[in-house]
Amino acid sequence: MIETKKKYCNSLTEYSRYKTREVKIGDVPLGGNNPIRIQSMTITDTMNTSATVEQTIRMVEAGCEYVRITAPSINEARNLENIKKELRAQGCTVPLIADIHFTPNAAELAARIVEKVRINPGNYVDKKKFEQFEYTDQEYQEELERIRERFTPLVNVCKEYGTAMRIGTNHGSLSDRIMNRFGDTPLGMVESALEFVRICEDLDYHSIVLSMKASNPQVMVQAYRLLIQKMEEEGMNYPIHLGVTEAGGGEDGRIKSSVGIGTLLEDGIGDTIRVSLTEDPEYEAPVAISLADRYKSRANHKPIIPITDIPTDPVNYNRRETFEALGIGGSNVPVVIADYSSRKISSQTDLADIGYRYDEPTDKWSLSDIAVDLIYLGKQNINFNLPENLKLIIDYDEWKNLTSKKLRFPLFKKINYLKRDSLSDQINFLRIKLNELDDDLSNKIKNDNKLVLVIETDNLHGMAEQRRLFFELINQGIENPVIIKRDYSNVSLEELRLYSSTDFGALLIDGLGDGVWLTSETNDVASNSVGKLTLVKESKEKFINRTLFGILQATRTRISKTEYIACPSCGRTLFDLQETTEMIRKRTEHLKGVKIAIMGCIVNGPGEMADADYGYVGSGVDKITLYRGKDIVKRNVKSSQAVDELIDLIKEDGNWTNPSNNDVL
Ligand code: SF4
Repeated sequence: MIETKKKYCNSLTEYSRYKTREVKIGDVPLGGNNPIRIQSMTITDTMNTSATVEQTIRMVEAGCEYVRITAPSINEARNLENIKKELRAQGCTVPLIADIHFTPNAAELAARIVEKVRINPGNYVDKKKFEQFEYTDQEYQEELERIRERFTPLVNVCKEYGTAMRIGTNHGSLSDRIMNRFGDTPLGMVESALEFVRICEDLDYHSIVLSMKASNPQVMVQAYRLLIQKMEEEGMNYPIHLGVTEAGGGEDGRIKSSVGIGTLLEDGIGDTIRVSLTEDPEYEAPVAISLADRYKSRANHKPIIPITDIPTDPVNYNRRETFEALGIGGSNVPVVIADYSSRKISSQTDLADIGYRYDEPTDKWSLSDIAVDLIYLGKQNINFNLPENLKLIIDYDEWKNLTSKKLRFPLFKKINYLKRDSLSDQINFLRIKLNELDDDLSNKIKNDNKLVLVIETDNLHGMAEQRRLFFELINQGIENPVIIKRDYSNVSLEELRLYSSTDFGALLIDGLGDGVWLTSETNDVASNSVGKLTLVKESKEKFINRTLFGILQATRTRISKTEYIACPSCGRTLFDLQETTEMIRKRTEHLKGVKIAIMGCIVNGPGEMADADYGYVGSGVDKITLYRGKDIVKRNVKSSQAVDELIDLIKEDGNWTNPSNNDVL
C-alpha cells in the first residue's frame, strides 16, 4: 500500500489500470474495464458540413473512437445536427463531442444533438475574464451560486438526452475566482473542475469525464495526480481524459505529448487520450494508439519489489539531491551520453551527428546547442584530439590498459567494480540493475564520491523498476549522480521516440536523473517521417541525440532550443497554423530558451498560452495580435507583417541574437 497522502494510482511497482466508473458515450463506453479510447478533434470550420464530415471519416479511419468538433456559437451547435446526419448516412457511427467555451446556449443545444459535450470550467458561462481579483468567502460563494444557476440547465439537458460531459480544465484559462483562491496551480486546476462536478453530483448526474490539460507536461502530470487524490477524498471515480495542450507539431509535439501522457499511462492512469499536434488531426490518432498499445500486456511484467515509503512528492517537483562528480549531478543540468559502442569512429567527421563539427584548416571544433557531453565507446578508443568538454566512457577492461587516460573514464559492471584494481581519480561509472543492489554494494557506492551510477532495466515495466531503484537510493541516503540508460529493441523509429520520451520523461519529471543514455538496435534511418513530413536521411545517433535533447527540453530540465506552444487549431482558426508555425520556427529557432506561442484565435488562445514569453494570436481575418507574456503589445497587425513585428518585439526586449552556425571551441 502506498502512503495514503501520496496515493494517486494503484501501485508504483505493479502495473494495473486505475479503475474508474463506466460512462456511456453513444455506443462506445469509456472508463471501467474498457480499453483506453483514442480521440481527436476536427480543425475544419464547423459550418462547413462536408469538410467536417470528410475529416471526421479520415480521423475514424486513422483510429479515432470519438471525434470532437468545436461549437463556439449557437450556429455551429445547430450545424452539428447536419454533420451527424451526414455521418450516419455514410455509415459512420462515431460518437461526437461538442467543444464548448463560454456559451451555455450553444452547449444546451449541442447536448441535444451529440453524444458528449466538453465544457471548460475556466470560461463556461462568462463572456470575458472576471475583472475582480479579491474574493471574500461570501463573494466566492455567490459566484458559485451564479455558476450553479447557469450550469444546471445544461446538466438537466444532458440527463434527459443521455449525453455525457467532459469537464476539461486547461492550465492558463482558469477563472479569476480560482486564480485568486488557489493560484495558477495544479490545485487550482483540480478545484476548477470539482466545483462543476459537485454541482453535477447534487443534480444526480454522473456521466462525467475529467481532464487537466497543460502545455507544460510537469504541471499537467501533477494536476492529474492531484485530481485522483481529490477524487478519492470525495468518493468520486470519474473516467480520465489525458492530453497535453498546445504541444506543437513534429518531433517536439510528439515528445512533449509522450512525456505528459506516457508518464500517467505508466501508472495506469487514463481512460482516453488525445494527442494534440499542430498537424492534420488524422496524424494524431496513430501517436495516441502507439502510446496506449504499450499497456495492453504491461500487467505481465516481472515483479518489482513493492514499496510503501515513497520518498518523492508526486505533486511537487523536487530534484533528487546528489553530489557533483566532474560536472554530473549536483545542480548541473542532466548530461547526454551518445552510444558509439557499435559504430566505428575513424575520424572527426563521425562526431558531427552528435553536435561536434571539426574544421581541419583551423583545427577548431564548433559545437551545436545539442552537443552531447559524453560518448560511450564500449571497447574502442579514439585516436585524435577531442574538444576539452567532451569526455569518453570506455569499458573498464579496455580502459585499465590505456596508456593515455586523458578525458577517458571507466565503465564498471558490478563484478569488476567490487574487484577492481584501478580507478579513475576523477570519475567512474557503474552500471547496475535494481536486483544487483545489495548491502555490500550500497555501502561501497555510498562511500565513493567519484562514482556515477548508470541504471539499466530489462523489465517490461522498466520505468517503474528504475524509479524503484531511485527510491531505494534515496531511502538509503545514497547521493551519487545517476544516468538513466534505456535500450529498445524491435521498435520502429516512431516507437523509439514515443517510448523513450515516456520512460525518461516519467523519471525526469519527478526530479530523478542526472543524465540520459539511449540505445537501440534500430538501423540507420532510411526515411524518417514525422506525420506527413519526411525528414532527411540521418544516422541513428543523430536521431537519438535529437530525441534526448527534446525530452530534456519537454521536461524543462535542460533548455537547448526555442520552445513553441502552438495550439492544434480548430474551427475557430483564421490562418494556416501549421504553415505559420513553421515560418516562425524557421526565423526564431536559434533563440534558445525563448517561449513563443502561436494560437489560432483570440477567444481561447491568450488564456491557453500558459507561460509563453511572446504570443502570436489570430484576432480576425488577416489580423494578428501580438503579446508580450499576457499583455497585448500590438493589435490587429496584418498577417504579412506580423512575423517581422514579432521579431522586432523580441529585439526590443533584448532577447534576439543573430543566428550563428555554432560556438567555436
Ligand atoms: S486556441 Fe486554437 S484550438 Fe483553441 S479554440 Fe482557439 S483556434 Fe481552437
